[in-house]
Amino acid sequence: MTDDMAAAYGEMASDISEILVPAADIQRRVAEIGQAVSRDYAGRNPLLIGVLKGVLFFMADLLRAITIPVEVDFMAVSGYAPDARAPGVVRLVKDLEIPIGGRHVLFVEDVIDTGLTLNYLLRNLQARQPASLEVCVLFDKPEHRLIDLSLKYVGFQLPDRFIVGYGLDHREKYRNLPFVGLLKPEAFRRGAKDLADPNTGHGQDFGSL
Ligand code: 5GP
Repeated sequence: MTDDMAAAYGEMASDISEILVPAADIQRRVAEIGQAVSRDYAGRNPLLIGVLKGVLFFMADLLRAITIPVEVDFMAVSGYAPDARAPGVVRLVKDLEIPIGGRHVLFVEDVIDTGLTLNYLLRNLQARQPASLEVCVLFDKPEHRLIDLSLKYVGFQLPDRFIVGYGLDHREKYRNLPFVGLLKPEAFRRGAKDLADPNTGHGQDFGSL
């Protein structure tokens, strides 16, 4: 962590043990993905779909990096811990406003870990018969993957560690950090369930995604 960063984000920055992806690297990669999407979807008026709230920053930056006409819509789900009784089952608390039948849909995701949540949502969307359905993920953590998923665009492959920043939270905090980093164990434990692993976050109840 640089002194500038620590000064600017004071209390939050002091909870971070390590920056995994600096802000400039995120911005550079998002711009590259935006160019690829613009090329691949030219003339197809794609519909980008995201799940609130973690994808907020990635979606906003990606949209600005796309230079062709594009539409956006959001879903909101309430998640359960990956090892809960019904793994990967999420409750839809806000559905899409735009019908996706016959549309070219790009599902935009901030982070994929086990893949269970994404798999559940993709099956839900596929049933609505879009013309195409592809996935764009910024942070891919493939080590803990339980389901084989095909990903069209991947920003960064990261180790199986619990990350915060750039939209990703721990108990609703740290979303507004411009970089992605790891939490110090004491910061992770603050308010977290005792059983959750401070390194990977496994066992945590991901209440709001
Ligand atoms: P899944 O294991 O189903 O792929 O991921 C479920 C959800 O858990 C993700 O959509 C995301 O909201 C959350 N999640 C997974 N890994 C992390 C992480 O490292 N940090 C944070 N803040 N959330 C995560």
